[in-house]
Amino acid sequence: MDADEAKARSTMPEKDHWKTKAPYKVHDPQENFKVRYEASCHCGKVKYQLSRESPLDSKLCHCTTCQTQHAAPFQWAAIFHKDDINFTHGHHDLEWYDPTDKSIEHKLPCKVRCNFCHSPIMDEGRNMILLFPSLVHLKTEQDKINFKPRCHMFYGQRVMDVPDGLPKWSGLNNESDLIEDSPPELVKERERKREKEQREQTEKEQKENK
Ligand SMILES: [Zn+2]
Ligand SMILES: [Zn+2]
Repeated sequence: MDADEAKARSTMPEKDHWKTKAPYKVHDPQENFKVRYEASCHCGKVKYQLSRESPLDSKLCHCTTCQTQHAAPFQWAAIFHKDDINFTHGHHDLEWYDPTDKSIEHKLPCKVRCNFCHSPIMDEGRNMILLFPSLVHLKTEQDKINFKPRCHMFYGQRVMDVPDGLPKWSGLNNESDLIEDSPPELVKERERKREKEQREQTEKEQKENK
C-alpha cells in the first residue's frame, strides 16, 4: 500500500476499503502500468486501461443470467487479473449488482456497470475479473485475435445455435459435457449411436464374465 492509498483509507470506514484495492485502485503514473488497451462505456464516463496483451481466457456464455443481464442471446467475457486493469476514475461512476442476492451492494461475485448509461462493464469475481471486450478499443487484427472467444459455455441454455466450430460446453467449461455443433438432429443421432455402443460394450463384458 502506498502513501496515497493509506491516506485514502484512513478517512473511510473499513467496509469501504475495497474502493482503494484492485481492480478499483487507481494506478500511479510512476507505477510502470503499461497501457496496452483502452476501453470506455457507451457514454464515456467510465474509462479503463489494460496492461495485459491477451486475456487469460475469452468465452461466450449462454446462461440465462447473462441473457437477462445483457438483454442479449449470450454474453462475451474476457478474463483478467484484478491488477491488469486501471479504471482511470477508480470506483467512481460505477454501480454494482449481486445477481445471487439481488442487491446493489458491493458483494463478490457481482456485476459492474456504468452508473450513468448502465453499460455492463465486467463481472467481478473473488480473484478475477471477467470484462466485456465489446468496450475495448481493439485496433489491429492481432488485437482481435488476442480477444477471440475460445469456447461457448452454458450452451445447454442457448436460445440460438452458433455453428462456429468452437468447443461448446453444456455448463461450465471443462466441468460439463461437450455439445456437438448444430444441426440438432445430428447431435441426437450421435447420442443414440454412443448409447448403442455403450450397450453393446456392456453386453460383451457380461458375456465374457460368464
Ligand atoms: Zn457510461
Ligand atoms: Zn453466464
